[in-house]
Amino acid sequence: MDLRLTPDEEHFRREVRTWLESNLPTGWGTPAYQAPEGAAAVVDFARGWQQKLHEGGWAGLTWPRECGGRDASYVEQLLFGEEYARAQAPDLMTISVGTGLVGPTIIAKGTAAQRERFLENILTGKEVWCQGFSEPGAGSDLASLRTRGEVKGESIIVSGQKTWTSFAMLSDWCILVVRTDPDSERHGGLSFLLVDMKSPGITIRPLKEMTGHAWFNEVFFDHVVVPKENVVGEIHHGWDVVIATLMHERSATAGHVRLQIEQERLAALARRDASADGKKRLDPLTRQQLAQHAIDCTILRYTAYRNVTKLQRDGVPGPEGSTVKLFASELEQRIQQSASELLGPRGLLVADDPRTVEHGHWNYELLWSRAATIYAGTSEIQRNIIAQRVLGLPR
Ligand SMILES: Cc1cc2nc3c(=O)[nH]c(=O)nc-3n(C[C@H](O)[C@H](O)[C@H](O)COP(=O)(O)OP(=O)(O)OC[C@H]3O[C@@H](n4cnc5c(N)ncnc54)[C@H](O)[C@@H]3O)c2cc1C
Repeated sequence: MDLRLTPDEEHFRREVRTWLESNLPTGWGTPAYQAPEGAAAVVDFARGWQQKLHEGGWAGLTWPRECGGRDASYVEQLLFGEEYARAQAPDLMTISVGTGLVGPTIIAKGTAAQRERFLENILTGKEVWCQGFSEPGAGSDLASLRTRGEVKGESIIVSGQKTWTSFAMLSDWCILVVRTDPDSERHGGLSFLLVDMKSPGITIRPLKEMTGHAWFNEVFFDHVVVPKENVVGEIHHGWDVVIATLMHERSATAGHVRLQIEQERLAALARRDASADGKKRLDPLTRQQLAQHAIDCTILRYTAYRNVTKLQRDGVPGPEGSTVKLFASELEQRIQQSASELLGPRGLLVADDPRTVEHGHWNYELLWSRAATIYAGTSEIQRNIIAQRVLGLPR
């Protein structure tokens, strides 16, 4: 790929930077800033910020104009992501299922009526979505899912259980995969539904994570009625739609900046710690580890760029997204492991302990980083995809 930006792209980058500088919430990033606390407040804040991004023309960057987007290129999306991460602008993870997965899936596979009904409310943050794919017996092997959808007249009647459904308790809608053909096995006979989370028959039970949050949930469906008009793609042929969604989930492009910031933060901490101990230099082992993280962040950046080149060429995310997902999630864990070794017991103190380091940042990130190699497909699954679908190796 050509790594130089065109004058238009340079202009776009400056435009993003200027907009963020003048629109980030007042006091954002300063110690005095009161970040929202608790899942409901975090989601509310994200909705408001998404609305602001939409008004600024930054929502749905690569979506077509007729779908409310900006028709921007994938390079522009990358530049936006890099500037956004560099400014450490608000994390939109809580509402990203809608913007990152559902919107692109409906654009690619939905009906005109579905586009009309759902896209604008995703872009403005008015409606929040969750992803009902995983089940107690179907995670990596999603095609073995058992939640039933009985086709009855103009409706699908859903019964069964999903699990690990992030932010289900605060979501308006859910993308749900169910087995509509009871005689089918594996990938055949599945359907992809858009389900109103206020429908009678849905019960949500939170699951507490080791970070202390209860952000994901078990979701139970007891004869929940879903109109047929909310099926994406054909009934019994939902697997193609699932694959389109998963490709978008694994093709995030600007995670490298976030990890680079984390790596630089760790290096600064190591230097501060060493000078507080009266040492002029870090010990050689720590220096080597920190240097390796810096090298890995650079590798990740260029791998992400290569991915964007491919995306720009093909127009749809491909299996190469797995290389970025795999490398980024394992690098995140290596950085956090180094932080933990450097800080020793101090790194385990939680945010409200007076002796904690950087308000419990390192303890929280160490625990949270364990999830990175599980969500959006585990590392083993990414390796299988790379082996079979990128390198063409036998199963
Ligand atoms: C923080 C977080 C948020 C999540 N949010 C959501 C959400 O919103 N919606 C949703 O639907 N899901 C969500 N998930 C679930 C996630 O998608 C699954 O946990 C993941 O797909 C793995 O499935 P599993 O947990 O059932 O593990 P399993 O599939 O049971 O895997 C167990 C182990 O076996 C390995 N393994 C399995 N199959 C193979 C194979 N063929 N080859 C080699 N190794 C294999 C796996 O790598 C893993 O180490 C979330 C998970 C996390 C951690």
